[in-house]
Amino acid sequence: MAEPRTNESMEKIVSLCKRRGFIFQSSEIYGGLNGFWDYGPLGAELKRNVKDLWWRSMTQDRGDVAGLEATIIMHPKVWEASGHTSTFSDPMVDCLLTKKRFRADQIEPQSGVVFHFCDAVEAAAAISSANESISGLPDGEQKEVRLGGVQKAVQLLRNALSFPRDQVIDPMELVGAFVRKYGRQGRSLERNFSVLVSSEAETARAERVAQEFYEKQGLIAPIPRLAKKEQVKDSTGFNSENGPGKGAELTPPRQFNLMFKTYVGPVEDPDSVAYLRPETAQAIFAQFKTILEVSRQKVPFGICQIGKAFRNEINPRNFTFRSREFEQMELEFFIRPDEVVEAIYGKVASAAEVLNIEQRTANDEQRTSDAQPSTLNRQPQPNWGWEAWHKYWVEQRIRWYENIGLPRSTLVEYWQKPEELAHYARATVDILFKFPFSKRDDQGELAGEELEGIAARSDFDLSQHQRFSGKSMGVFDEELKVAWAKLDEAIRKNLWQRYHDARLKYLTKSGVPGEQAAREAKADADGLAKGQYIPHVIEPSAGVDRLILALICHAYSEDQAPDEKGKLESRVVMRFHPRVAPIKVAIFPLLKNRPELVRKAEEVRELLRPHMTVFYDEVGAIGRRYRRQDEAGTPFGVTIDFDTLGEKGPELKDTVTLRDRDSMKQERVRIGDLLPLLLEKVR
Ligand code: ATP
Repeated sequence: MAEPRTNESMEKIVSLCKRRGFIFQSSEIYGGLNGFWDYGPLGAELKRNVKDLWWRSMTQDRGDVAGLEATIIMHPKVWEASGHTSTFSDPMVDCLLTKKRFRADQIEPQSGVVFHFCDAVEAAAAISSANESISGLPDGEQKEVRLGGVQKAVQLLRNALSFPRDQVIDPMELVGAFVRKYGRQGRSLERNFSVLVSSEAETARAERVAQEFYEKQGLIAPIPRLAKKEQVKDSTGFNSENGPGKGAELTPPRQFNLMFKTYVGPVEDPDSVAYLRPETAQAIFAQFKTILEVSRQKVPFGICQIGKAFRNEINPRNFTFRSREFEQMELEFFIRPDEVVEAIYGKVASAAEVLNIEQRTANDEQRTSDAQPSTLNRQPQPNWGWEAWHKYWVEQRIRWYENIGLPRSTLVEYWQKPEELAHYARATVDILFKFPFSKRDDQGELAGEELEGIAARSDFDLSQHQRFSGKSMGVFDEELKVAWAKLDEAIRKNLWQRYHDARLKYLTKSGVPGEQAAREAKADADGLAKGQYIPHVIEPSAGVDRLILALICHAYSEDQAPDEKGKLESRVVMRFHPRVAPIKVAIFPLLKNRPELVRKAEEVRELLRPHMTVFYDEVGAIGRRYRRQDEAGTPFGVTIDFDTLGEKGPELKDTVTLRDRDSMKQERVRIGDLLPLLLEKVR
């Protein structure tokens, strides 16, 4: 099993992506736009394959999920209900020196000495005032001696005015030159600025950083004035990024909403404000009732969507990992609340019956990506509650990643700790991929970064939309109504109470006033008897672009391959799983100047083309052509040679060589067998 790649390979990966046209900067000819990326021919195919595979596994291969394709811009109330307008923000800080913006929680704590500067004076002003203070003295020599006290200022001004180092010049002449050049006397600026350095030994660096800060405020050759120094421990108030801004003071954290704002219609006023969606999920909740009706589904069932999402990320980074425009693949799977399952089936299946996570992790450690998982053989059962459904979806999603070529060893199943959970979430599992840029854990292992989150979100989202739109998001469940009427009184009371308490908790947390909350919670619990409830939801939410990056990082490899003369040379090979590979098969006539070879090769191309992506290449030596396809990640190469034409005897006529990208093995295959053989491998 391939080892997760490390950071140094990231540069090579980014450069290959650009060179081969997988991914490159948006609007590159204008210098690019931070956080926006374009997918070239290979990248576009790769992305399309991934989205198609997800769509197929989510909807077409199962009967209980319906699809949706909603608009990017929705009614602004959607974002009030979802909480994005008020809370979808990150605390952010700005570096006072470089103006770079960081997420406050991503600043590394640092210890050392802080130099607090209170103002700065321009060198010209420092020299002038020193000169004034000795102006009474007639003796030029003494003057020179005294001005020696402002040697630093003289030096700074010399540099600022580009005076040669060895040219002897009277300090006041320098000041004169300054006045002539800038049309002003030297000035000062009262403005605090602090710098953190590791120790006193770095005093000069602290001064340099401060000088740069005051220069950026418009002072020429500034001399910062130190107010005090202090020792600090684990401070997050200073720029922790290596580079020129390291140690510079940061602003206090401020909330920064990540939604892109726009205006709908010709008038730019507060009433026409709208947002580009920051996630695809909310459209699913907002259209829940419509889809329930038109799809003739019954809970439990799901709605899924693939689409663009936009977040004005403070600090886009790690190539496409954190972008400002990206795609999501989201499923909202609606289930009965546990009280409803219990009312109908007498008992909720315990999660352990469904899947034992520990046992599965241990068993599957050695599993290859193609093997079938040993556990989770159960089909969904009607008596599953939220825990069982949640575990089911976690397992489904991991199996899907394995199926498209990410072995379990490259993934991490991270169960969020109780204190990390959103208040409405009952459990959230993040599926992480060990990217080369991931941080390392205490054992030095790559810790992984999020590809997907799978959250059990209770009935929070539908309840929010019900409150904000005033439209019912509840469903009617005939089975519940029938079962409820037959329940033993004590059980009925108990289920009523539990449902009531959960609703009351939600309503109270959402700020509904006490009496009203109590009234609504009672009405909701009374609804059970009529077969009514608000479904709960399990949400597997994945990012397409992060997955593409994971597939590229995992596929990238370098090895040795023989050239035409059998001499080993190094090759870059993208070992994509054939299911996701942008091009499935390359067709090579051995020589382009032999019409009978070319004709046959074109015939093979036309045979395969309706069924898979085919690349035809007749240019250059065959070894070079193989190498080009290895870099593109094409899993199979078909060469049409003289044997194909029957020149070496009738038994090889109409056979081709089929080359495997990874093993580089070649086998002779009949043209008639080619299509079924390849289809089996790429599907
Ligand atoms: P993060 O904590 O990394 O910002 P998140 O928890 O905010 O991610 P979600 O809101 O759960 O992410 O979004 C679901 C998925 O969408 C993520 O798992 C990720 O794959 C993808 N995603 C989110 N933000 C970005 C982004 N800025 N660029 C690319 N993909 C993203």
